Amino acid sequence: MPSTTRQMAAVTAALALSVTVGFVASPAFADPRETDKTATATGYGGAVSTVDPEASAAAIEVLSKGGNAADAAVAAAATLGVTEPYSAGIGGGGYFVFYDAKTGHVGTIDGRETAPAAITHDAFIDPATGKPYNFTPELVTSGVSVGVPGTPATWERALERWGSLSLGEALKPAIEVATRGFVVDETFRQQTEDNQPRFGAFTSTSSLYLPGGAAPAVGSVFRNPDLAETYRLLAEQGISAFYNGPLAAEIAATVQAPPKTATATLPVPVGHMTTADLAAYRALDQAPTHVDYRGLDVYGMAPSSSGGTTVGESLNILDSFNLAEMSRPDALHHYLEASALAFADRAKYVGDPAFVNVPTAALTDQLFGKERACGIDPQQAAVKPVAPGDVSSYDGACPAGPASLADDKDTENISTTNLTVADKWGNVVEYTLTIEQTGGSGIVVPCRGFLLNNELTDFSAVYDPSDPNRIDPGKRPRSSMSPTIILDDGKPFLALGSPGGSTIITTVLQTILNRVDLGMNISDAIAAPRASQRNTAAVTAEAAFITAYGDQLAPYGHQFTLAGAAGTSAAEIGAATAIEFRPDGSMVAAAEPVRRGGGSALVLKPLTGDR
Ligand code: GLU
Repeated sequence: MPSTTRQMAAVTAALALSVTVGFVASPAFADPRETDKTATATGYGGAVSTVDPEASAAAIEVLSKGGNAADAAVAAAATLGVTEPYSAGIGGGGYFVFYDAKTGHVGTIDGRETAPAAITHDAFIDPATGKPYNFTPELVTSGVSVGVPGTPATWERALERWGSLSLGEALKPAIEVATRGFVVDETFRQQTEDNQPRFGAFTSTSSLYLPGGAAPAVGSVFRNPDLAETYRLLAEQGISAFYNGPLAAEIAATVQAPPKTATATLPVPVGHMTTADLAAYRALDQAPTHVDYRGLDVYGMAPSSSGGTTVGESLNILDSFNLAEMSRPDALHHYLEASALAFADRAKYVGDPAFVNVPTAALTDQLFGKERACGIDPQQAAVKPVAPGDVSSYDGACPAGPASLADDKDTENISTTNLTVADKWGNVVEYTLTIEQTGGSGIVVPCRGFLLNNELTDFSAVYDPSDPNRIDPGKRPRSSMSPTIILDDGKPFLALGSPGGSTIITTVLQTILNRVDLGMNISDAIAAPRASQRNTAAVTAEAAFITAYGDQLAPYGHQFTLAGAAGTSAAEIGAATAIEFRPDGSMVAAAEPVRRGGGSALVLKPLTGDR
């Protein structure tokens, strides 16, 4: 919708609502902020890319008032908790990656959810049948899959380490949006409608997200005064209100006894989270993963996410090949084969390093990648699943042959959100946050305005002592989130990330290859059709990818499953955001032009007539 039309709709909807519920339109409505969406913005002074114009505007507001990238990232994330509440919020977790311009170092914060202390190895087994709960509906909409949220602790830690604002100051734009409301778009309406059966099962969720029993209409204004109040509480009392105060008790009570409506027929297994679990939660400072790809320094998220090791290993594998000189089908074949190999190793080796010995150094070792590259036949796709490599003994030479096949089942979902921010000092944030499923557990904490995650569904469903991602008390489930910052000669070159469950890894990888090897600019690299090979018989791909390359890749033996077909998650793969830093000091903020309704890229001082 053109900017002016969209703003008119915002004003009209706001005024209509003000008449309906009898409040006086706030100055923000009289002068609505720019809500048009631009997928690419080039300029100076700071930049942001998110999936949502309100969140991007919040970041720009903070940057324009002298805040830095960490401040702006927290402001944007908190705003996404209002406008993208089914993807992220204080009821979930995530991974925050920061490039510090002063020191030249990349640091990360692991804000992943943890399993409660009382969780048992058979927590995902239905006591009534002795078999694993069905993923849908039992596990997905449950108290037992709710992990202890890490997002409030991540925001506090990020501001403490790198920010200049207090949490209260950083939450201001989000409080404003939650109070004055935002204009419902088609993505929000559709996601609400898709969740209607689950949301309708809880009194707290239906009263917030199904007002009058239905999803809010496109163009209406959606306000969340409960969330504004919760944010105010955090602003006044800090995150101890969440982890030690009244909220902790309410979260634990909600997990232990989800507030089902009288008529709800969903099974909703209860959880065992206690206030002690919330009090014990800590966001962790982590060293990033690092690989050198064609002279670029690629920093990613170390375990408990598998993002850094799997993107990193794939790049190390591909470093043995000159993709730029290959035909497009040859290059794509190598991309698909490399990610399959890296996913085999992810399944065998990656879990929470506090519980299992994760060979992060080997997985990101160039020599290991070189040896794994032997598994790529330039003309023929390997039979999937391919076997994992041996991290205990490798020398870069090709091994005799795989011992056994692996099998990595994929139940991760496609929710989550990602944002990229840079400031005028050269600091950069790449931050991916989630509540797992679109709509998380489906359970809003009563009168608090936010959904609880169902992140523990990322654990393997059945307990197997040899599985690094087996369920354990206090443990973080393995993630695929892949916030990535790439330096060239010590200076930021590209920061990027995406939602999309385990396709996050391939989306980040494919976008890097598009930009670095295949000659695309960053906007085209994001817009290009996607395919995701996660060590399964068929490659999951967007329709446009199959149309463009399906016939050309068939002779290699690649088969495709259409993303969104039965058994897969959505018609689109990912919803990436990125910022590229150009040698002249300008920044190119890039968001999706189409996926997830299109994202919002903004810069502080736009450079006109350029992209
Ligand atoms: N839970 C997923 C992960 O941590 C993210 C969910 C998604 O992106 O859909 O990898």
